[in-house]
Amino acid sequence: EAAINRIAAGEVLERPASAVKELVENAVDAGATRIEIVIADGGKTLIRVTDDGCGIAADDLPLALARHATSKIDGTDLLNITSFGFRGEALPSLGAVGRLAITSRVAGADAHSIAVSGGRMAEVRPAALSVGTVVELRDMFYATPARLKFLRTDRAEAQAVGDVVKRLAMAEPFVSFILRDVSGGDSRTTFRADAQTGDLFDALHGRLRSVLGRDFAENALPIDAQREGFHLTGYAALPTYSRGAAIAQFLFVNGRPVRDKMLLGALRAAYMDVLSRDRHPVAALFVDCDPMLVDVNVHPAKSEVRFRDPGAVRGLIVSGLRHALAEAGH
Ligand code: ADP
Ligand code: MG
Repeated sequence: EAAINRIAAGEVLERPASAVKELVENAVDAGATRIEIVIADGGKTLIRVTDDGCGIAADDLPLALARHATSKIDGTDLLNITSFGFRGEALPSLGAVGRLAITSRVAGADAHSIAVSGGRMAEVRPAALSVGTVVELRDMFYATPARLKFLRTDRAEAQAVGDVVKRLAMAEPFVSFILRDVSGGDSRTTFRADAQTGDLFDALHGRLRSVLGRDFAENALPIDAQREGFHLTGYAALPTYSRGAAIAQFLFVNGRPVRDKMLLGALRAAYMDVLSRDRHPVAALFVDCDPMLVDVNVHPAKSEVRFRDPGAVRGLIVSGLRHALAEAGH
């Protein structure tokens, strides 16, 4: 079992940033309004994610750590996935690759914690915490030095963690995010995005301003288009605010960050007539649809998607963006 867990874990968890992604997604799924991420040494020695979400009941703590135990899907319909989680794999995998401790409290009950290390689970113990969950992963890959060797410098890993947190923060403008680095005993806030209020477009604009900067916010066109069951929203920058590299293209499907070739190609195609070949558009775009119209179960890291009708999505992106660009005189 432990060996299987370790092998499977490697598919999803290749570096600290992938662990952070899983933990923050869980916090979002739990309905958190405030998520704090603390790392040390690029996340190699410490990752701690604290949320004020619904919590995990004491009886469910061991279950949450059991392989393929998820509270988010009943197993009858793998295509119909609305929340981030769909395999019940993250927590057991984390327990296999490092020293994992979960402390949690649901409303109306006391807090409890459980620890697991090297795949071996300790018993559930009483603890102190307000409603929500703290998941702490120490010494990732300590038992697999070969994997540890593949990690990059602390600085590069910390940067990758920051990128993951920023991507997730873009998709959840009403949630506050704070990322702290406690390497070497000092505490530095490396990213902070306060919870936004107002309607979704205002909130998203405010959030993109804190993640992508004021220049982006001031040069971004709101996008809002629909077609054949797909809804496209977000902000796309004017062609004058383009980049020399394709580094600022953020795409989300049903709230999940994705890096999908088809979607990136559609974004590129939309700007084809208004950008020279060496320039790249900047955008944060959200495609939302009935979960039945998209298969997110393509890769364990869940960054690729397969649409039932890719042509419709591509057409929506191209026409939605071109329309907004034309209205802005481009
Ligand atoms: P998945 O997210 O795919 O369901 P995970 O292994 O990530 O699987 O988590 C297992 C289960 O533990 C979840 O289904 C959920 O019930 C519970 N859980 C994990 N993290 C949290 C959290 N931060 N708050 C509340 N429940 C959580
Ligand atoms: Mg999960």
